[in-house]
Amino acid sequence: MRNDTTDHPANLAERLTRSGLRNTPQREVVYRALLDKRDHPTADEVYGRVRPEMPSISLATVYNCLETLVQCDLVRQVNFERGPSRYCANLQPHAHFHDEKTGATYDLDLPPDVIERIRSVLPPGYSAKTVEITFHGQSPTP
Ligand SMILES: [Zn+2]
Repeated sequence: MRNDTTDHPANLAERLTRSGLRNTPQREVVYRALLDKRDHPTADEVYGRVRPEMPSISLATVYNCLETLVQCDLVRQVNFERGPSRYCANLQPHAHFHDEKTGATYDLDLPPDVIERIRSVLPPGYSAKTVEITFHGQSPTP
């Protein structure tokens, strides 16, 4: 696993401040839950993980925290057709592999120039804020 400086919760406070937002214990606990287990949980799953530590937190607060983290570019929101949004704290360029049988989602490292090469297909004048690459299929059964 990469040891990227963006993973440190101190960075969360810094990013929030830069976006004009306060760091709150709720935001921190939600962010830490995403860093601890990188299996692309849904908001409901995040809620289940933070409740033992913070029983007073509500699902609405978890949604708000996730939204804030996405707005500050600390977390990526990942959507697969029809499923609920999932959240990913890996900020390195990466693709997703969505196992259609188990519903599990894995990060796949991308060679550094892949995103630039894909962006190069954009016609002149087009700009894309994000590029998402998702494989849908099956991972090998153990
Ligand atoms: Zn991811």
